[in-house]
Amino acid sequence: SVPRQRKPDWIRVKAPVSEGYHNTRKLMRSLGLATVCEEAACPNIGECWTKKHATVMILGDTCTRACAFCNVKTGMPRAVDPLEPEHVAVAAAELGLEHIVVTSVDRDDLPDGGASQFVKVIQALRRNTPNTTIEILTPDFRNKHEAAVSAIVEAGPDVYNHNLETVPRLYPTIRPGARYYASLRLLESVKRQAPHIFTKSGVMVGLGEQRLEVHQVMDDMRSAGVDFLTMGQYLQPTPRHAKVEEFVSPQAFDAYAAIARAKGFLLVAASPLTRSSYHAGDDFKKMQAN
Ligand code: SF4
Ligand code: SF4
Repeated sequence: SVPRQRKPDWIRVKAPVSEGYHNTRKLMRSLGLATVCEEAACPNIGECWTKKHATVMILGDTCTRACAFCNVKTGMPRAVDPLEPEHVAVAAAELGLEHIVVTSVDRDDLPDGGASQFVKVIQALRRNTPNTTIEILTPDFRNKHEAAVSAIVEAGPDVYNHNLETVPRLYPTIRPGARYYASLRLLESVKRQAPHIFTKSGVMVGLGEQRLEVHQVMDDMRSAGVDFLTMGQYLQPTPRHAKVEEFVSPQAFDAYAAIARAKGFLLVAASPLTRSSYHAGDDFKKMQAN
């Protein structure tokens, strides 16, 4: 077998030891909320949680899919928690969040794919923390995305994110449960139904994609009206997951970012440790101020 590649020194991760980290963790536990920060083993957790930035993962911690890059556990999820929307709002208030990112596992077992829970979470946040801007990162809702998108955009999030994750050629191995063009159509549908909502998408690099394929994904996103782009290095969470084909250099990320800006994205975040929720609030507020 091939030895695991050593991480280059630009992938540096600080140990999460601050008081802010522990307080964020305690709060999430006490509210019974899962976070993608923990479930996806995000390398930025020390920094983000110290600053009280956390990405809540609703609809439980068990996913009905098994993407080759993802650390979230797969299986038959539990019933939807009716108290979850209020708990998310309490977390936002307690953490004093100006911007919250809410995502979910994929719930192919639910008739609406979990869309109504996103709606309830947005409504609970609007009631309890009306000044918090809301960014949601949703699954693809498989064959029901038109209905799911209508319900969710009606609830009025500020940013609607759905990640394409990788180039279409790698979907069968990396994102086998998903279809590239279905995900693109979901993004296009959000923009068509609610042009005032910012749309956002992201890709991981280092999975064996070619540079020109990434440029094509950017073009596809722009054709679907996507406003914000994030790009980060894929890191293998465990040896059972897809292996890292390449560590993309910070200079190559800068080159991608320059091309993305030229293609017209309003916000571009591209660096080895960029994740779709990394600095999401700061970047969004900065853009709104301009
Ligand atoms: Fe959580 Fe996102 Fe920060 Fe990672 S980058 S720790 S997922 S908020
Ligand atoms: Fe992970 Fe989302 Fe894939 Fe589920 S659908 S395995 S949460 S990336």
